[in-house]
Amino acid sequence: MGINILWDRQAPEGIELPVARMIEMILGREAGFVEYPLLIDGYDRNRNQHDAQKILDRLQDTLTRRYEVAGPLLLVTSRDLYVNGCDFVFGLARPASGVAVVSTARLGNSYYGRTPDDADLIDRTAKEGAHEVGHLLGLGHCENPECVMFRPRTLDELDRKKKMLCPACREAAGSGREG
Ligand SMILES: [Zn+2]
Ligand SMILES: [Zn+2]
Repeated sequence: MGINILWDRQAPEGIELPVARMIEMILGREAGFVEYPLLIDGYDRNRNQHDAQKILDRLQDTLTRRYEVAGPLLLVTSRDLYVNGCDFVFGLARPASGVAVVSTARLGNSYYGRTPDDADLIDRTAKEGAHEVGHLLGLGHCENPECVMFRPRTLDELDRKKKMLCPACREAAGSGREG
């Protein structure tokens, strides 16, 4: 089943297609874009972050129930995300509902005082987007630091990951198409 990508209007423009193609390459499944009006919930004024769980609540409610989007659904947003107990998260997946979100807020070089580079942003958004969709396909976290399903806690750990699943995760995910 194909992967549906919803690109938040505030998310970085111009990198949508390369990100989608890279997610396809990593997971071996087709990915396409869907466009629906979506309210981004869960803003916390004190933290200046969004509660990723509340975003997924709305995503689940609006898209899977009202519009009956079939297949894994990934929201790409620029809002900085947290979940209770964590300072921040790069993304969050809810496999039981088939919805996930990934944030570009901490994926660009400028967040870390480095020179902006679209190629870096594309790589990281694709890796973390594919990671969250991987959870929707039934994958858990992987111990292999080069695997997309490894859970990075820092940007360096994220950058150490390759744009691929390790053989064990690839096997576990199966493939949406032959070969
Ligand atoms: Zn994860
Ligand atoms: Zn793996």
